[in-house]
Amino acid sequence: MSIQPFDDRDGFIWLNGELKEWRNSKLHVLTHALHYGSAVFEGERVYNKKVYKLNEHTDRLFFSAKELDIKIPFTKEEINDATYLAISANSIKDGYVRPIVWRGSDMMGVSGTGTKANVAIAVWPWPSYFSPESKMNGIKLDISRWKRPSPDTAPVFAKAAGLYMICTLSHHDAQNKGLDDSLLLDWRGRVAEATGANIFFTINGEIHTPVPDCFLDGITRRTVIGLAKDKGYKVIERVILPEEMADADECFLTGTAAEVTPVGSIGNYNFTPGEITKSLIRAYDIEVGKLIDN
Ligand code: PMP
Repeated sequence: MSIQPFDDRDGFIWLNGELKEWRNSKLHVLTHALHYGSAVFEGERVYNKKVYKLNEHTDRLFFSAKELDIKIPFTKEEINDATYLAISANSIKDGYVRPIVWRGSDMMGVSGTGTKANVAIAVWPWPSYFSPESKMNGIKLDISRWKRPSPDTAPVFAKAAGLYMICTLSHHDAQNKGLDDSLLLDWRGRVAEATGANIFFTINGEIHTPVPDCFLDGITRRTVIGLAKDKGYKVIERVILPEEMADADECFLTGTAAEVTPVGSIGNYNFTPGEITKSLIRAYDIEVGKLIDN
């Protein structure tokens, strides 16, 4: 089944203050962000017409822009209103939101001085399936040859477009091996995160997750830690070395897109998705409003 190209769809994209026809929402080839990676973005989910944790995502968008020395020419309230404008203009009930901020084509050169900041918000349908039991087999992860960079080599806490270059390459390697995604270690060789999601392990009934000191402390990660604690699980944020994965019983990823996704293997390490993962999938489904608590 071929996917309809993303530049050839019906609907509207909010671009710099107004709704524009989807197909006419274009950039020039001499756009600073395209050449020098001066772009930051967000990934949000719409569940039943409501954006889950919109304020947190908008806060992070502004934080990321500041990290890249870009001033967003709108207020947070204007961005939130624009998000809902795009959602209603496209009649989205369950969907994905992609806000992006980038330096434009006003000037070319490594220095971005003289370029204007642009903002777009696109929304497209993303059905909200109930997490099926089949998901409990777990996805298969590669261990990437790429490492998450140290905080003094890149703005690692920003959701910046340039940081995804190594994620794309890791994903390609995984796909070529018939795997679903990839685990990146950090520059010290510690377990960090997957290409677009945070990682958790369970060991003897306790939940362990790496300290986010050189990668995104995901909004879903924080939510799931809270849900796990509410359920009475002990959650330990600590340095995790790759060889410790041999001790783990369960493993799962968390992210806006991934939600709570069980992992069956990482390289030669195998896990058996079980009760803890299942209970957190359910808790998250209730939290985002997919499931009614009963
Ligand atoms: N790490 C990376 C690299 C990501 O792209 C994402 C998705 N935004 C996450 C972690 C998870 O973040 P969140 O839970 O805020 O979506």
